[in-house]
This record gives sequence, structure tokens and C-alpha cells, in this order.
Amino acid sequence: TFRPAKRLAAQKVSEILQIGARASELKAQGHPVIVLGAGEPDFATPDNVIEAAHRAALAGQTVYTPLAGTPALRAAIAQKFKRENGLDYSPAEVIATAGAKQVIFNAFMATLDAGDEVVIPTPYWTTYSAMVDICGGVPVTVQCSGETGFKLTPEQLEAAITPKTRWLMLNSPSNPTGAAYSVDETLKLLEVLERHPHVWLLSDEIYEHIVYDDFAFVSPAALSPAIKARTLIVNGVSKAYAMTGWRLGYGAGPEALIRAMTVVQSQSTSNPCSIAQAAALEALTGPQDLLAERCASFRARRDLVVDAINAIEGLYCRKPEGAFYAFASCEGLLGSTTPEGKTLKSDRDFCAWLLEAAHVAMVPGAAFGLSPYFRISYATSEAELTEAMARITKACAGLV
Ligand code: PLP
Repeated sequence: TFRPAKRLAAQKVSEILQIGARASELKAQGHPVIVLGAGEPDFATPDNVIEAAHRAALAGQTVYTPLAGTPALRAAIAQKFKRENGLDYSPAEVIATAGAKQVIFNAFMATLDAGDEVVIPTPYWTTYSAMVDICGGVPVTVQCSGETGFKLTPEQLEAAITPKTRWLMLNSPSNPTGAAYSVDETLKLLEVLERHPHVWLLSDEIYEHIVYDDFAFVSPAALSPAIKARTLIVNGVSKAYAMTGWRLGYGAGPEALIRAMTVVQSQSTSNPCSIAQAAALEALTGPQDLLAERCASFRARRDLVVDAINAIEGLYCRKPEGAFYAFASCEGLLGSTTPEGKTLKSDRDFCAWLLEAAHVAMVPGAAFGLSPYFRISYATSEAELTEAMARITKACAGLV
């Protein structure tokens, strides 16, 4: 019989995927399910990017590349950090990977020994804690409540750090809350890190281009040279350029760390897909106008969703600064009874009921470590969002 390794014992199939599977079942039965569960832009990859990939394939860029990416792509990534973040990195301080996910995985594999701790502000993207587990580390989750805008406070950070802490994970703007740290909030966290030089910062900036109103994204590494010297930035083209399927991410950090991550990569995936690298090169160096256009479109959707949720008695949604997620509280509806006679006791109950009764799929906060909330991914058309909000409104009005 099959026996999985101990390191996998605590790992389950992600709850998000399970909800997706149930949504597909309902769809197959003919129900008009609207899925607000996926973390993926509904836009298409830009044509210029697809054309660059096509040209690269025809020109024979179909063979192994250097492990950490082609020299042209690494130079383009270094230039991106200079242009957009005001950060100086040499190509040797940059690695291209199979998606942003692999940057994080390489980093944990390269740095975590058994028992090493990683501080993870909660709610968090579930992959963080799962990867720490798989790599033998200990995830230290810190609950960040709605009162602090789902953001880690300096006091919480100070209290979470021990001699075994290796990394602080920061994800701004955040999946699942859309919360983003202001410069002031970031500086206060960096002050704490400056007192603990053994703690490194893993800054996941994959949603940096999706920020609203007057919010200006600033990388923590740009705020302190001392912190930059122990920061790994995680980024990629998946969300900004609607390229989730191409699997191309990148990281930037001190050369010794990047070298260690390259060793991990050399014995796992080797170089990321050569054609995806050519596509990413075009995405990063070609016209950038689409970033602002798509962001404006996400902003309209955010407003639509947040306003609709806040108009429903018993629900509350903080207006997020970025990403394409809203994280709403359903506390006011817990204890209510559905027309089918079921009492809603948790956010899991609430989401399961909305999927069956209103055919809207969303993910309960419990999946991200914080209840009683639910995450709405609004990376879908305004027409679908309007319909979904109408269904949720109607369903909630039927609760007693
Ligand atoms: N980081 C965060 C916070 C994400 O939400 C995601 C995707 O959902 C990723 C990283 C992974 O991106 P990629 O598709 O490049 O692996």
C-alpha cells in the first residue's frame, strides 16, 4: 500500500480546490454557478507577449537556458526593479523561476532547517504555511484582526520573533484580504526587524500593480538598505500581465541566497520554460499601459462588490487597498437559519450554503486562518459580479 512521506502527513488538498470541484459538479448538473473563488485575472495575456513567445519558439529558443534564467530576462528583471521600485539589483541577484510559487519554495528549501520558524501574518495565502511545513520549518501564524485592517502590528511582530525565527512573510497587497501596508506601517515593522538581524524578510509583491485610489506601493527593501541586505522579493508576471498559465516568476535578493536557491532549482525543475521566459521578457520590457487600464477596471469591480456587501444586513467588508480580493465578515449572520432549516454556525457553513442556494462560490476565511470571514475574488466581469451580488443579497434576505 501507498505510504506518503511524513512531511506530507499534515498536507491536504486545498480547500479552494475542493470548493472549485463542488462548483464544477453543480455546473455539470446545469446550475448557473458563478465562481468568485479563483485567484486569477479574467483578462487575456497581451498579444505582444504571445507573439514574442511564438517568435522565440520558431527561432529555436526551445532548449535549456541557464538555470536561473536567460541573461536577457535576468537583466530585464533587474531593470524592472530599478524602474518601478527604485531598487538596484545586479542580474546575479535575480532568479527566474516556474511561477512566483517556486521562488518561495526555493527559498524555504534553501534556508530552513528542522524547527526553524517563519512568522506568517494571518489570514494568509495557504501556500505559505504548507511550504514551510513541507520544508521542515515551523509556521508561526499571527492573527491580524479586522480592527488593524488585517495588518501585522509592530508589537505583534516583536512578540512573535524568537531565536529560531528565520523569515517574516509579508504579502502586500494581500491575498486574501486586499490589505496593503502604507510606508508608515511598513517602516514601523522594519524598525522591529532592525533590532533582530537574524530575521530575514520575504516580501511577496505579486499584487504590487493592483492598488487603488491614492495608494502608492513601496517595496520594504526600498525603505532601508540594511533590510534590503536580508530581503528576498517575490514577484512574477502571473497577476500583473494575466499570465498565470505561463508559470514565470522571479525573485531578487542577496547573491548568496540567490545562489543557494539556484542550487535547489538545479536539482528540481532546472530553468523555467524557455518560451515563457521569452514571453516574460516582452511583458517586462514592452508597453506597460495595460497595467493602469486593468487596474482601473479592477477598481470599479472592487467598488461594486464592497458596496453591495455593505448594503447587506449582517455582512461587513473593509475597503481593500489592492489585489483583487475582498475579505468580508459574516459574523452578523451566524446563528441565522436558512429557508431550508439549517442554522449557519460558521463561515464554512455560510459559504457552503451560498454555493448550494445561490450558486455563488466563495472561500471561507477559515481556509486562510481567520473566521468568520469569506473571500470574494472579483477578477471576473462586472456583469457576473452584479449577478452574484444580487443573488447573495436575495439569499441573505431569506435568512431568519
Ligand atoms: N503569491 C500570492 C500572494 C498569490 O496569491 C499567488 C497566486 O495565487 C502567488 C504568489 C503565485 O503566483 P504564481 O502563479 O506566479 O506562482
